Amino acid sequence: MYNRSNHARMEKIQEKLDAGFMSKHYPEVESIVIDMMYNQRGIAKPIHRIINFSPGSYAFFKIDCLSRDCDDGGFDLSHVINGMIRNHKETATGELTCESDQPPNDHSDIEYDIQIKFS
Ligand SMILES: [Zn+2]
Repeated sequence: MYNRSNHARMEKIQEKLDAGFMSKHYPEVESIVIDMMYNQRGIAKPIHRIINFSPGSYAFFKIDCLSRDCDDGGFDLSHVINGMIRNHKETATGELTCESDQPPNDHSDIEYDIQIKFS
């Protein structure tokens, strides 16, 4: 039986495995911290989340949308983080909206604050 949601999840896991380790791609990076506020549509209270990356983490910077039914959306911070590493920039802030343009209507937005420590 074809289950769309499971299929999307498996693809995401595969993408993560394919990304490889931080130590391989970014040997000069000691740590990355993503400090973010989630604003989910229809929910008044923002949610605070901190994600830590170390050299043993997967170099995979896609973050899931808060909506339980959101398969194809989320937030891709890869280009932001790649740019920071290239320019040896230690901090960056910004906002992103869920990439999905599909229903449901409870997709989320994030405000992020990224800190990178170079060795
Ligand atoms: Zn979404």
